[in-house]
Amino acid sequence: MEKLIQTDWHIHTALSDCGSPEATPEAIVQAAHEAGLRAIGITDHVIRPRHLERPALTRKALPADLGGLQVYIGCEADTFAPDQFSIDREYAATLDYVVMAASHLYLPMIDKPGAMTPRTMAELIVRLTLAAIGSGLADIIAHPFGVPESPYTFQEIVGELKRDEVFSIGHAAAEAGVAMELNPRYFRRAPDAAGWLFGCLPGVGCRGPIYATEEELRAEGITPDLLWSIEDRVSAGRGG
Ligand SMILES: [Zn+2]
Ligand SMILES: [Zn+2]
Repeated sequence: MEKLIQTDWHIHTALSDCGSPEATPEAIVQAAHEAGLRAIGITDHVIRPRHLERPALTRKALPADLGGLQVYIGCEADTFAPDQFSIDREYAATLDYVVMAASHLYLPMIDKPGAMTPRTMAELIVRLTLAAIGSGLADIIAHPFGVPESPYTFQEIVGELKRDEVFSIGHAAAEAGVAMELNPRYFRRAPDAAGWLFGCLPGVGCRGPIYATEEELRAEGITPDLLWSIEDRVSAGRGG
């Protein structure tokens, strides 16, 4: 049986605020070898103008000898509003691909509803996610409905979603060739919500996961043909 976990397309270095201080490009490449991965993508946060240089810094800092590992440089960009993103098309074209977040609701640039309840948060994320999918800037939507620093759990927010809303996202993503990151952390934190949500997002691929076992992923119906690969890139106008 073909191994499911051969790639990881969402990795932060120490340049990102959330990246661990030991996460140098060299350490990441070594860790990928130890995990038996074939390809990885390094995607530091590009939220503010001063972050724009991060991917170029990482590209420069890569070890000369990658030992046969394919290493791509992207970023984790952000959706602030349906027509407002942290990067533009010209910038996306300088990268190998783009992971786009649409649920970093802690960011001050995101206009939030007065009353933040699990339902209003879910509605806002639906709007931002559909915008990110339609932006032409995204290859992968980061951790759908995963809200860092949230007053509510993933389970509570996902519990407010209607099946139709999730299907509309799944269909838009499939149509645009944009993958949804089926972030396996949520299989651990909230398996019921994750199983339901990811089960409603059919046929759009997922991140090469590192937190769940091959068996757990296969049990969710994830097969190698559903996984995103670098040849699937659609951001920056490639592939349409
Ligand atoms: Zn991230
Ligand atoms: Zn994120």
